[in-house]
Amino acid sequence: MDFVDQLKSQVNIVSVIGQYVQLKKASRDRYSGLCPFHKERTPSFSVSEVKQFYHCFGCHVSGDVLKFVMEIEGVSFYEALKGLAERHGIPMPKRSEYADEDSRTRAALMQMHELAQEHFRANLHSSTGEVALAYLARRGVRPETIEQFGLGYSLPSGRSLLRMFEERQFPAAQMEASGLVGQSQSGGYYDRFRNRLMFPIHDADGKIIAFGGRALAADEKSKYLNSPETPIYRKSKTLYNLHRAKEAIRKEQRAILVEGYMDAIGVSAAGFGAVVAICGTAFTAQQIQAIKRHAPHIVVNLDPDGAGAKATEKAIGLLLEEDMKVRIMELDGGLDPDEYCKQRGAEAYREKLDQAKEYFYWLADGARKKYDVHTNEGVVSVLQFLLPAVRRISDRLERMAIANDVAAYIGVPSGMVLDSFRKSAADRQEKYIELPRATVPPDERGLINLLLSNAEGCDRLIEELARVETLDRLGTRRILQAIVAVHAAGGRATFDAVGARLEDNDRRILAEMLFADDPAVEEFGIEWGAKCIGRLLHTDEQNRYLKLKARIYELERAGKLDEAMPLAEELGRLKQGSMASRRGVQ
Ligand SMILES: [Zn+2]
Repeated sequence: MDFVDQLKSQVNIVSVIGQYVQLKKASRDRYSGLCPFHKERTPSFSVSEVKQFYHCFGCHVSGDVLKFVMEIEGVSFYEALKGLAERHGIPMPKRSEYADEDSRTRAALMQMHELAQEHFRANLHSSTGEVALAYLARRGVRPETIEQFGLGYSLPSGRSLLRMFEERQFPAAQMEASGLVGQSQSGGYYDRFRNRLMFPIHDADGKIIAFGGRALAADEKSKYLNSPETPIYRKSKTLYNLHRAKEAIRKEQRAILVEGYMDAIGVSAAGFGAVVAICGTAFTAQQIQAIKRHAPHIVVNLDPDGAGAKATEKAIGLLLEEDMKVRIMELDGGLDPDEYCKQRGAEAYREKLDQAKEYFYWLADGARKKYDVHTNEGVVSVLQFLLPAVRRISDRLERMAIANDVAAYIGVPSGMVLDSFRKSAADRQEKYIELPRATVPPDERGLINLLLSNAEGCDRLIEELARVETLDRLGTRRILQAIVAVHAAGGRATFDAVGARLEDNDRRILAEMLFADDPAVEEFGIEWGAKCIGRLLHTDEQNRYLKLKARIYELERAGKLDEAMPLAEELGRLKQGSMASRRGVQ
């Protein structure tokens, strides 16, 4: 067994996926939950513990435990392998054949970020770093907070980090790929971050994958500078502070969303650990899903200015798309969350947090300021304004309840709101994913289940199966042929290996058969499988028999008796053989 197989046999796919998806046991060997790869309300994502694979009947993704980790974490095969091995205390083989070029680059970039982090932190406490420390003191950031968030300082000279990388002989290509080093037009390299307060950005596991830098010189053009996208940093997947916040988010079942690094740090230091920040990147569905893995509720607390209100409106739409429960928190005095915590104190912030409104009240407030609800036109305008957000609520009852609330809030009869919402509901055709039932005969279903879950049975039966001529007439022929082909190529017939040789539709049928609640696989023992193949071979004979009979009849009618004679003899032999094999089968 090679290392990949060994790892897969020691890792329980249900518990690994269960860390990302709430799985419920749906039948004997089917755990199901809401798919993490597409948006759905009816669980169509299924995991098999015995056969060690997952499949979504909605978006048709499927694979084994390694593929799942690769997809959901956005990591390479090698990293998924290494991560799972580490988490389960399984030692990796020393000279690993799995470390491909891509993974080596990523490992080097991680290492460069660790080095940069040490460097920036040391700079902060050097004499040159005074300017940064003074800034932090002015913003009321305590020394322990500076430590906790790993804040640092990039030197103005512009070559110190570069020299460190050169001393350690990182190749130029890796330096460029890291995003920490830039190249001038003359071809020379320089540090991307200079004279800036440095914020390390981590992935969900807490590894540093990027930096944000705040300018300290007043004349600097861009106040904030972030790492560019690199092989280890995907902006659309990353939220600032999520790795620290996730425990608290789970515990409190809600996250607080703020705009910048200082907001996240300030709010967290005031005792609200469940805070994450967008930090200058576009808010994306993937970021929301990263939060949703931990809690369904979110309180949006973006900046109080006009741009912040626009961003909030946009965030609401995105969050509703992902079925998050959204509240909006508003701070008075034009203060951002960090300033509010410092000036008014944690208690005042807590109060605002508890008072956070359901998002539609916030939207209605905005609309009420814009339109005059004492006129019919005004009310219509308000409803028009609210409609896009309300339309995004996929639950009908919830939509009705909100319609009532909105009606009371803007002071119109609820029937009027309901009418306009109902109209919008009509054009929103809710799509439910039906699990299509493939009608596969029990013999084929049982046989395929047996071959994929019983390696010994597969070894013993496969040659016999390959002999079956009728195979290419069966509805499941492509699946059975794929199993035969995988085996012939020396592989083990797993869902992954077989599925890789199939078109989407056949892979779906295969997944359905494997998840169908058939009697326990043990009941489909090897003996049963042998009989099943016997029945298929018998069908072969019957077919041959019928074909021969038809041919003889044809020849006889054409008067070609000498040609018909030898065939008639063969027919007799077939008949005897068929009766013998029939006795064997029954
Ligand atoms: Zn899906």
